[in-house]
Amino acid sequence: MKSIKITPKMNITVLTGAGISAESGIRTFRDTGGLWENHRIEDVATPEGFAINPELVWNFYKERQKNASEAKPNPAHFALAELEEKFGKNLQIVTQNVDGLHRKAGSNNVYEMHGRLDKCFCIDCFSKYDNSSIDLSVKIPLCPKCGGKLRPDIIWFGEIPYYLDIIEKLILNCDVFMVVGTSGVVYPAAGFVMSAKYHGAVTIGINLEKPSNADFFDQFYIGKAGDLLPDLIEQWLN
Ligand code: NAD
Ligand code: ZN
Repeated sequence: MKSIKITPKMNITVLTGAGISAESGIRTFRDTGGLWENHRIEDVATPEGFAINPELVWNFYKERQKNASEAKPNPAHFALAELEEKFGKNLQIVTQNVDGLHRKAGSNNVYEMHGRLDKCFCIDCFSKYDNSSIDLSVKIPLCPKCGGKLRPDIIWFGEIPYYLDIIEKLILNCDVFMVVGTSGVVYPAAGFVMSAKYHGAVTIGINLEKPSNADFFDQFYIGKAGDLLPDLIEQWLN
């Protein structure tokens, strides 16, 4: 097993997925048989689904936003925020999560590559809004500027994630690439560990079960992020 002594001079990039928020009470979706909160992914997480039934899609995301706003960060989120306090800009988080829990825990260096539940944008003029500034009580919220349909600011299946240019640089330049709570099946994020390893990073994984891309990890810890991550980071900080 390739091991490494971690120091604050090193660049660490952490990729997180739905599993890191599971202990905050937000359900992952692979665990529920490919359904996300009882909905087919095609219906609620694709542009085609939105075109067919925008009201259903909005109702789904309003509910997700409500859950996320009520959820509290767990020890795994807080441990990463603590690591950032010591490592500063050398610690960067790339998250597939849309729940905002990393920011709530105090992390600042966060790239939310799949968007945010608390924002939306216009499908005609692409203006972006905080949901708090929009009347969401209507069936399909409309753009205050042009009257076009607003949609949740979420990257759906078949769409290109945010920040890929920055993420590529982080992957190529990091000394350590750590992956927490992701099933390793949603691309492009599932491929990041392979790129990081090929570019010389030590790769570390934490997940409740072995992910599909397990072969690319130098160190792998099976268990709950909220149990394992704080201990691992504690070791690094000492
Ligand atoms: P996923 O649901 O495909 O996989 C989650 C992984 O986390 C699973 O392998 C599971 O075994 C593991 N896991 C569950 N509980 C865990 C725990 N306590 N500690 C460690 N690991 C745990 O999630 P994904 O790979 O992130 O892909 C899902 C996609 O759906 C993402 O693109 C994301 O945008 C979206 N999503 C987001 C949220 C959120 O924001 N919290 C929740 C559900 C889905
Ligand atoms: Zn508009």
